[in-house]
Amino acid sequence: MMTHIKEIDPETHDLILQELNRIENGVELIPSENFVSRAVLQAMGSVFTNKYSEGYPKRRYYGGQEFVDAIEKIAIDRAKKLFGAEHVNVQPYSGSPANQAVFFALLNLGDKFMGLDMSCGGHLTHGSPVNFSGIQYKAIPYAVDKDTELIDMDEVRKIALKERPKMIISSLTAYPRKLYFEEFQEICEEVDAYHLSDISHIAGLIVGGVHDSPFPFTDVVTTTSHKTLRGPRGAIIMCKKEDRLHDKYHSHTDKNLARLIDSAVFPGLQGGPHDHTTAAKAVAFEEAMKPEFKDYANQIVKNAKAMADELMAQGVKLVTDGTDNHLMLIDLRPKGLGGKGKQLQSAMDKANITLNKNSVPFQEASPFNPSGLRLGTPAVTTRGMKEDEMKFIAQCIAKVIDNYKDKAILEKIRKEIMEMVGAFPIYPDFTMLE
Ligand SMILES: *Cc1c(COP(=O)(O)O)cnc(C)c1O
Repeated sequence: MMTHIKEIDPETHDLILQELNRIENGVELIPSENFVSRAVLQAMGSVFTNKYSEGYPKRRYYGGQEFVDAIEKIAIDRAKKLFGAEHVNVQPYSGSPANQAVFFALLNLGDKFMGLDMSCGGHLTHGSPVNFSGIQYKAIPYAVDKDTELIDMDEVRKIALKERPKMIISSLTAYPRKLYFEEFQEICEEVDAYHLSDISHIAGLIVGGVHDSPFPFTDVVTTTSHKTLRGPRGAIIMCKKEDRLHDKYHSHTDKNLARLIDSAVFPGLQGGPHDHTTAAKAVAFEEAMKPEFKDYANQIVKNAKAMADELMAQGVKLVTDGTDNHLMLIDLRPKGLGGKGKQLQSAMDKANITLNKNSVPFQEASPFNPSGLRLGTPAVTTRGMKEDEMKFIAQCIAKVIDNYKDKAILEKIRKEIMEMVGAFPIYPDFTMLE
């Protein structure tokens, strides 16, 4: 029982160390990634992983729930306070299942809903034809404007009035500008649609006060806990207590939106919640309530601006010519590199710069080898890097783009990156594996 991972499974132990080495020696720019604190890691590695606790606090199916009930209640109360939410469910396993639960709670199979097209920065679960959302429901996508590359709220309203969807999703995964939740809500009220705000990418920015909040407007808000919020891999659903559209859409007598959501999560879709993740969510929410987290969120945005400005100064084209949030999208087409996203991602890997290939709006190339790169600053900001480092990284990125086939130059950049990041350790004296 007490054997450590190093003795029982040297192979896995070694891979964990290699991954640790990889993140310490590179710059992590995938905008959905972050580095959690040691406290969050410890909660995830705790004995709560052993427990079964189907149900909700005080209403469980098994015994021995004294401490699980307490930790779930703490996580819920902290999330309520952090976001100003009326009701919170902390049990969803991850962002996609959280969204699935909302669809399951509010829509019938085949019902119409609107979401931002994936090629314009929406998420897979917002209506992609290969996802449950696009297969089991009728997805009506809205796009960004061809000229400004921005979401045009007049256009969203026009489509909503014509299509009369039962739900509209306000969200982003690869859109570098602000979302206007209040305007989305107005449209939803005008057409009697539920409003789902999926704030997975920007939850940390909202908590930190550097992006408008969907509260108190939106009916239902989902978010992952592991992106800018810097918690464990998982998600939460927040909602109003009352179902604004009950009389229009539901024949049952329950007007309680919170109960509808809770029963969609369990027993509708999930079995036992991951209590070790719930504990880690509680820890992450505590961290996010501290004043330092506001500074962190603020610095994420400042860093993204500094990086965007330097990239553009180096002649790199960005979608919408900049960013308001934590992420940016490089459009490779002006460099004659349309459809070369895969090659560029791999060249960046060789220089220890981790980012992801991504579609850009209205590209002709296939999504498997798209014309853009997506990058962002949440993880490097966690390491303590500031504007000077962003400028340096941006110069490295521009150099990689212009020399992506030149192995010697990529190797030289890799060495420079390793030297720079050495001053910003992520997990110094890591002892959890000993
Ligand atoms: C990341 C993300 C999700 C999905 O989260 P997973 O945990 O990967 O399932 C859902 N919606 C948005 C907007 C996201 O960015």
